[in-house]
Amino acid sequence: MDHDEFSGALNDWFARSARDLPWRKPDTTAWGVLVSEFMLQQTQVDRVLPRWLEWMDRWPTPSALAGAEPGDAVRAWGRLGYPRRALWLHRAATQIAQEHNDQVPTSVETLLGLTGIGPYTARAVAAFAFGDRHPVVDTNTRRVLARALHGRAAAGMPAPGDLDDMEAILPRDPDRAAVFNAAAMELGAVVCTARAPGCDVCPVAAWCEWRGAGYPDNAPTKRPKQARFEGSDRQARGRIMALLRASKDPVPLSAALAAAIEDSPRATRNGDISNAPDAEQPRRAYDSLIADGLVIEFEGAARLP
Ligand code: SF4
Repeated sequence: MDHDEFSGALNDWFARSARDLPWRKPDTTAWGVLVSEFMLQQTQVDRVLPRWLEWMDRWPTPSALAGAEPGDAVRAWGRLGYPRRALWLHRAATQIAQEHNDQVPTSVETLLGLTGIGPYTARAVAAFAFGDRHPVVDTNTRRVLARALHGRAAAGMPAPGDLDDMEAILPRDPDRAAVFNAAAMELGAVVCTARAPGCDVCPVAAWCEWRGAGYPDNAPTKRPKQARFEGSDRQARGRIMALLRASKDPVPLSAALAAAIEDSPRATRNGDISNAPDAEQPRRAYDSLIADGLVIEFEGAARLP
């Protein structure tokens, strides 16, 4: 495969077809890029979009967020899921404001020192906010690489080799490299999707090993299925958080615990209780929120931090 032709075709397609996302606009600040990367870690673009716009309007700089209560950040996070990310973002904003003169650090090493920033996010911010040349590989990119480079139907578990793959085909020029990182993600998100790859409109179809081999059914062993959400502790945590987000005042502990199992399934007539909550679940969910710093208890009432 000619890597220049491959990356050129993908970058040209991206220039023509990329979704118009506000955090990709040239005038978006590094802070805006960092916020988008926090939000996109576990959440789909269409759910992130309105939250990101609200967030940037309300807290356009790290110091603006650092000046707010952590509970305001958690409340504004809404239903994006995994609300610890809101707390981490608030802590990272405080670090940037206090230790970096309110400027998002430019180097991967310094970014890694901020709360909630791991290797992926550090490289993504360095590449997308500052134009540095780093391989940035998310789930969508891994699927594109698995199919186009290795002729596999799907990517296996994440591995260090993913970065090597991306590094090998990443353009040398930093600007083109930054576009290529974004373009590979975009291709995986909107064309080379897990269930229905749109090979007819794919800009790199000519080089795709999996397509060339006739789409062999050779996906690596599937990961174990995720435990279902219905009836889970995670769902119980989400219900408590929804109650606290909606309330300006502290909520009695009994109400918070009751909310944890509100509308939960009960044993069905045939005795199936597989997704009915156990008696300890409300307390377990509540205690885990306290341990994560997402809930504060004072005089028998619970509130956001
Ligand atoms: S040709 Fe099809 S399978 Fe190959 S990268 Fe493009 S969309 Fe994915």
